Amino acid sequence: MRTSLGWHAAGSAELRRTTLERRELRPDDLAVQVDFCGVCHSDLHALQLHDPEAKAPLVPGHEFTGVVTATGPEVTAFSVGDRVAVGNIVDSCGECAMCTAGQENFCYSFPTLTYGGTDRQDGSITLGGYSREYVVREAFAYRLPAGLDPAAAAPLMCAGVTVWEPLRALGVGPGSRVAIAGLGGLGHLAVKLAVALGAATTVISRTPDKRDDAHRLGADDLIDSTDGEQMAAARDTFDVVIDTISAAHDLAPYLKLVAMDGTLSVVGYLGPVTLETTDLLIGRKSLSSAGSGGRRATAEMLQFCADNGVAADIEVLPSSQVNTALDRLRRNDVRYRFVLDMSDLDGGDA
Ligand code: NAP
Ligand code: ZN
Repeated sequence: MRTSLGWHAAGSAELRRTTLERRELRPDDLAVQVDFCGVCHSDLHALQLHDPEAKAPLVPGHEFTGVVTATGPEVTAFSVGDRVAVGNIVDSCGECAMCTAGQENFCYSFPTLTYGGTDRQDGSITLGGYSREYVVREAFAYRLPAGLDPAAAAPLMCAGVTVWEPLRALGVGPGSRVAIAGLGGLGHLAVKLAVALGAATTVISRTPDKRDDAHRLGADDLIDSTDGEQMAAARDTFDVVIDTISAAHDLAPYLKLVAMDGTLSVVGYLGPVTLETTDLLIGRKSLSSAGSGGRRATAEMLQFCADNGVAADIEVLPSSQVNTALDRLRRNDVRYRFVLDMSDLDGGDA
């Protein structure tokens, strides 16, 4: 086993520094020195659901960039020293219809998640990127294109690709009218990506003082979701609404904003929803969802971001401040993504 320092939840509400074990490299594995890891709202959900008595510790973190430090003997695409990015999927069966179609994120036997997943070979529980080293199959590592800042690019690997896939699948481009509900980590990248794709883009937010930010990010407007008049005025005006809201909420007000034959794609809070069918019937509207990205779409998204100068608006904190980052994220006090600098884990013991 290889050891590395990281941050884990075990019997405490706070993450604590620990020594964790990584597998020895398999033939197609890379060892990656994790330099920067984004703090996703899913990490908060995972910590909330985590049973402190559970045998396996929870090490969150599923959007990171770093440098290859070792390669297994069958690795062909990467060399030591390459800068890479890893997202929230680190393996899939590779054989089902989804995998062969390049949608490994929808693998019929469920993709292996970067943390809290079950390793397909030894059954161990995966430990995430809030650590100084990660061992990953080369197929699920991506070359970081030149020109992308390694810290600001880290959030592209979960937040970015999660909104990229639906934007692309729904054909967003010049002439599209897009609204992004919830201006957080996913939401601000959705705005940048939709704008870069050429869409007229609007933010829907319960925080009207994000208006200046919305404009700076390239949006034409911000609709205050708590203002009934503003919401009513925007009825039936968007071809695509991407909902990134992190809490359970009524979808009806957001469906009302969708234009005829348009789509509401709910990628934020995932859970049961209640729905009035007539909210779909009137205007022949569609309800959809998505999550993460396949290998092809992920590589395409990274290149698109490099070509179009898209990256996250970040606040970088040393990894020792991980609990502060999580607390502030919980309070919606970040514009728009915390990224942990893992270099402070070098040297010293757990
Ligand atoms: P985030 O940075 O905390 O942003 C969420 C935004 O939602 C907030 O900035 C806020 O925007 C809005 N919001 C929060 N609570 C709300 C409430 N009670 N009512 C209305 N709006 C509320 O979170 P994130 O990292 O972007 O993640 C967003 C959600 O996506 C999380 O639930 C996360 O687990 C999920 N997620 C899903 C996938 C997937 O694969 N589908 C991947 C990653 C994350 P305003 O202030 O603008 O209203
Ligand atoms: Zn995430």
